[in-house]
Amino acid sequence: MQEIEIIKPDDWHVHFRDREILKVVVPETTRNFARAIVMPNLIPPILNGKQAILYKERINKAIPKTDNFEPFMTLYLTEKTNKNDLEEAYNNKAVFAAKLYPAGATTNSDSGVKDIKNIMPTLEKMAKIGMPLLIHGEVTHNEVDIFDREKVFINQNLDFICKELPELKITLEHITTEDATMYVNQGNQNLVASITPHHLALNRNAIFVGGIRPHNYCLPILKREKHRKSLIKVATKGNKKFFLGTDTAPHFTSYKENCCGCAGIFNATYCMSILAQVFDDYNSIENLEKFTSLNGSNHYGLSKNKTKIKLLKRENPIVFKKQIKVGNDSISVFNPNFPVYWEVI
Ligand SMILES: [Zn+2]
Repeated sequence: MQEIEIIKPDDWHVHFRDREILKVVVPETTRNFARAIVMPNLIPPILNGKQAILYKERINKAIPKTDNFEPFMTLYLTEKTNKNDLEEAYNNKAVFAAKLYPAGATTNSDSGVKDIKNIMPTLEKMAKIGMPLLIHGEVTHNEVDIFDREKVFINQNLDFICKELPELKITLEHITTEDATMYVNQGNQNLVASITPHHLALNRNAIFVGGIRPHNYCLPILKREKHRKSLIKVATKGNKKFFLGTDTAPHFTSYKENCCGCAGIFNATYCMSILAQVFDDYNSIENLEKFTSLNGSNHYGLSKNKTKIKLLKRENPIVFKKQIKVGNDSISVFNPNFPVYWEVI
């Protein structure tokens, strides 16, 4: 049996939602992660420092007493965001970063930005004060194929922002394509990217194996194998511009198994096991710590976590639980459907 010890990971992209879902999903993250950047796309979204502080209090109440965990809050950028309020919320440490959603790109993104040019003064302010910008990098025009939306966003929007504001700290979140790995790799040093466990584990066939698989539907949608391979390459090499952001995104099972199923994969529960398996399969287990625990905190100028976690490679694959109960409904737990031998102990 093989055992490894790594610095406790951070999750630089998480959806905790609110109310009864929040209470059951927060402990799934705090068990194995020391810190997380929390997405602001609630209904209604987190638009100012005051709302972020109240949301953080609700999260803190849901953290088990045995876990040491710090949530980093974010603001949802709109074309009406006041740049002085944003600066104040950042300086007061009410928020850590701001999130840019193109209008309509994913779950609860209707208030998002229609035209990047309308928020350039806000982005200039962020560059000046050193506040990180997190981007859901997909265009939303109906005429652009859903599998091409990340690539088109890079060409039409991200390139513009990076050229205008090279000093702005940007995370292109949950990247899915070779186009993104290449662009970020060649980009300036302030441009980095996060990658999810499900985009490392699966290609787009997984949405359609033997029938339609609603639990493998997420946005950005899974891509071709050549794109997955490109993500694998940068992650397993320990490339410092790429790090973990799980995009764990719970929905009720009844909302996923539906004629109009929600986008989002809830992967918090077995995230570290799945990642260890993927890195092991590519003979790169020694680089897991860089991806989950070092590269992200380096980019954000934060210190390393002081505690560690241990993972053990079992002789038999671990048995995944299928669901977590929430009231009369449940949240379905991501299972990549290949044998996973690594367990956090
Ligand atoms: Zn997300």
